[in-house]
Amino acid sequence: MDLKISKSGTIVAWAGGSSPAALAIVRLSGNNAHAIARAICVREPDSTEFRGSNPVAFHTELMRPGTLSDKGSSYEQHSDAAKLIDNCITIWYRAPRSYTGEDMVEFSIHGNPLLGREVVETLIALGAREAGPGEFTARAFLNGKLDLTQAEAVQELIAARSRSQVELARNMLAGGLRDAVNKWYERLVKMRAELEVIFDYPGETSDVTRARAPGPNGESIAAAAHVSDDAERDGMRETIAEITTEIGELIAYYDRGKVIREGIRVAIAGAPNVGKSSLFNALCGFDRALTDYEPGTTRDYLELTLGWDKLTLTLIDTAGLRTDAERVEAAGIERTEEVISEADVVLYVIDTSACVDPKSSLLGAPSVGDRQKLVHIFNKVDLLPDDELASLSEKIGEHPEFTVFITSVKSGRGIAEIRRWLIESLSVEDTADRVLITERHYALVNAALKALDQASESLRQGVPTDIVTIDITEAQNALAAITGRDVLTDVLDTIFANFCVGK
Ligand code: GDP
Repeated sequence: MDLKISKSGTIVAWAGGSSPAALAIVRLSGNNAHAIARAICVREPDSTEFRGSNPVAFHTELMRPGTLSDKGSSYEQHSDAAKLIDNCITIWYRAPRSYTGEDMVEFSIHGNPLLGREVVETLIALGAREAGPGEFTARAFLNGKLDLTQAEAVQELIAARSRSQVELARNMLAGGLRDAVNKWYERLVKMRAELEVIFDYPGETSDVTRARAPGPNGESIAAAAHVSDDAERDGMRETIAEITTEIGELIAYYDRGKVIREGIRVAIAGAPNVGKSSLFNALCGFDRALTDYEPGTTRDYLELTLGWDKLTLTLIDTAGLRTDAERVEAAGIERTEEVISEADVVLYVIDTSACVDPKSSLLGAPSVGDRQKLVHIFNKVDLLPDDELASLSEKIGEHPEFTVFITSVKSGRGIAEIRRWLIESLSVEDTADRVLITERHYALVNAALKALDQASESLRQGVPTDIVTIDITEAQNALAAITGRDVLTDVLDTIFANFCVGK
């Protein structure tokens, strides 16, 4: 949508989802928000309660005005043709004390999207414009209520599927990344000033720097000792090293964060009819409310992303890869191999009732890489007589090097154990103080790191300071783009395009 990154106009959106809910909010923000809201609210905030800057909340009926022809100037609200839309609680905010930093009104109405649409359309008829994705948050950013990392965190928080993801997004929303980046940025600002001093007054750096700094009583202190440019350069290299170490820690956590955001890939593999799809369905049966369907890129296999406590996990049923139940096509096999090679965990299912020798079944699993985990699932044990089951368990017990589960998807045996094992062995460590970075941040901190390494090397080689300044400036620009101090409009458009409407 054009005009997304703009502060012009009064915008409106339904901030509820597409399914019915108990309550949901319609948001209205911009210069005319209060005037437009007055046209549909039977009650208005009385001037005494709305005099201060605090938001005011009250109950009112919402009426569709009888006459809309004079929209934008005066609104005729209580004509005979006016029609009741809903009862609601409405909250009125005065700029700058609102989410967007503008005048805002929120209508908390019954959560039916059709009702929401009616309110939105009425407000549009009265002069508001439909908001694009993320436009409220974009305005909050443009009005200085949030920096860019916090704006991005809002979306991360909304989209989070596991508790770890929620925690990381919350840390970023609280300013975790912003504070770290700003601290580095400020240190670089200081360093550039020092570089300029060396450039302007070579050989006298310390004297000059100190002479400029006020003493404890405000007096100007002349330097007692002369420190050479070399010492200054070493000091700067130390500062750069400190910053790059901290940036390095952030980068090191990127892969972990990526796992938390994108989830662990668990592929269910095995011969036809062993019970792969049944296992897939049984595992998906947990916490269905937290699931959503995400078809794979090619839609030729079934894939579902689940949030299990601290773990986000994508389950893939490779049975869907078979194009023909009788004849496994070459393309299907290739695709299965690809899915298996990309998985973090492979659940290899075996039909115990057809398994002659457990050892050969254990060894018959697809080979996996070092970083992948392989789990054997001996399924359909409900079909085995007790003595055969006992002998099977014994034989499997001779191979403690394998991770094995004995299951019957039919009776439910062993399914909860698989789930528990996945959660315990795959959940990430404590995320309390961690900051998650997105791909955008990752590229920028790497650019900053590269420029800082270059600057450090130039300082070591005694390269003229104006050249060093260029690298420091480059690092600074990269950091500034993270928090949005200095960011191009098209970058903003890309970021906010991923938001949901109403946020
Ligand atoms: P896939 O081809 O590997 O995906 O296998 P399916 O999940 O489609 O299962 C093949 C057949 O085995 C179906 O008829 C299932 O109902 C049945 N099945 C799956 N798991 C079990 C089990 O634990 N016990 C029994 N008795 N049958 C099962």
